[in-house]
Amino acid sequence: MPTITSLLKGATAQGLPRHEAHYLMLHACGRATHDRAWLLTHEADLLKDELVQRWQDAVMQRQSGVPVAYIVGSKEFHGLQLKISPAVLDPRDDTETLVDWALELIPLDEPFKVLDLGTGSGAVALAIRAQRPLAQVTATDASAQALAIAAANSAALELPVRFVQTNVRDPHWFSALEGQVFDLIVSNPPYIAQGDRHLAALKHEPAMALTSGKDGLDALRSIITNASSHLPSGGHLLLEHGYDQAERVCGLLSVNGFVDAITRHDLGGLDRCSGARIL
Ligand code: GLN
Repeated sequence: MPTITSLLKGATAQGLPRHEAHYLMLHACGRATHDRAWLLTHEADLLKDELVQRWQDAVMQRQSGVPVAYIVGSKEFHGLQLKISPAVLDPRDDTETLVDWALELIPLDEPFKVLDLGTGSGAVALAIRAQRPLAQVTATDASAQALAIAAANSAALELPVRFVQTNVRDPHWFSALEGQVFDLIVSNPPYIAQGDRHLAALKHEPAMALTSGKDGLDALRSIITNASSHLPSGGHLLLEHGYDQAERVCGLLSVNGFVDAITRHDLGGLDRCSGARIL
């Protein structure tokens, strides 16, 4: 029987990043993936055949490009442990830029209405609700499967969010929210152009969470065009977008009545979010 250490060493020697090997090992051993302390104290343990098999299956899936979050069924985002399935986008650390920006705009001590469009696993909505308990957070998605995951996360984390299903065939992102006004609207919509070469590496994730028209801007255009009727004067719209879309997103914001558009970087220093205030 091999030890945990020898299996970890073998996989990292083949190029698997150490932290990923740790997650996959904890998963194979039936432990929570954030339980690094357990791994440290069990490195010399001999692993039973059944667990070795689970480990090897997990490593093989990872080598074929399946995101770690789908293999282990969870991901940490902004300090929250989220349940994740292939029905939702694997939440990226870079999206914490969007959350941190939203938190700067939401007061700690008074109610504030926040809308998250295309919530997926609920990552952004729940991270906001976790830090701003008085915020009344609404989150939409066109996918019933995604909303089921988001609702499960909301219940497990005891972070109440109002979920609304939007119509997948309706490109108008707000049709289920007619007449409703929010103090802040945030979204990490699909923004990759159809046929973009990056999509090959993302084939395990839902296409509807990734791609949006020929230039990748269909969703962003629709959200920016329609957001003003759901914001009070002075309300903000914050959007995640592709590394090369900041100029076009800021342009769309300014022709749709928004002012003071600015762009913020992600952890890799790339343009990742733009936001502005409606007059
Ligand atoms: N940031 C993701 C990527 O480029 C895409 C997420 C999205 O389209 N919203 O891998």
